Amino acid sequence: MNSTTEHIKDLGDILKAELTSTESFKASMVSIISEVDSKIKNLKNIVELINGLKRSWKPYGGRAGKSEPFYCFLKKDTAKNESDWVFLRDLVEIKEGERLGDSIYGVLMVDDESQLTTDRCPKCQKESPIIYRYFQEYDSPGGDLWSIKHLLLCCNGIHTIKEDSHD
Ligand SMILES: [Zn+2]
Repeated sequence: MNSTTEHIKDLGDILKAELTSTESFKASMVSIISEVDSKIKNLKNIVELINGLKRSWKPYGGRAGKSEPFYCFLKKDTAKNESDWVFLRDLVEIKEGERLGDSIYGVLMVDDESQLTTDRCPKCQKESPIIYRYFQEYDSPGGDLWSIKHLLLCCNGIHTIKEDSHD
């Protein structure tokens, strides 16, 4: 073999190894990015939920779940209908110039957690208040889709314990 042939052959081997290791590096990067994305999504959802528990008593546009997800708690020992929607008084945020009475759907406030419906975390079995989420996922001439979820905030995340929808 002359030196050019040898050189090309060596280079081929080196680059093949480098390609394999670079591809494997990319695969770990993709997996890290997807992990970070899911962490960001999880944090965004928790922030949205907490903000909802503070502010959903007065939803943007005046309709629960219409332009942004609506969050509240469920009152203990009552039938499961809209009148069960409650907020924890100490958790709601009332901005200057606002009154609770301004809410269009008779927001009910409770003073302590013992008045809320609870359920067990599927992961750790700890009992905590159910968080009710209501949101119009689709709004189209062909049909609307409203989703209803019962959530628990536990174990550093949101756990969906019940899911339903209607047109
Ligand atoms: Zn838990």
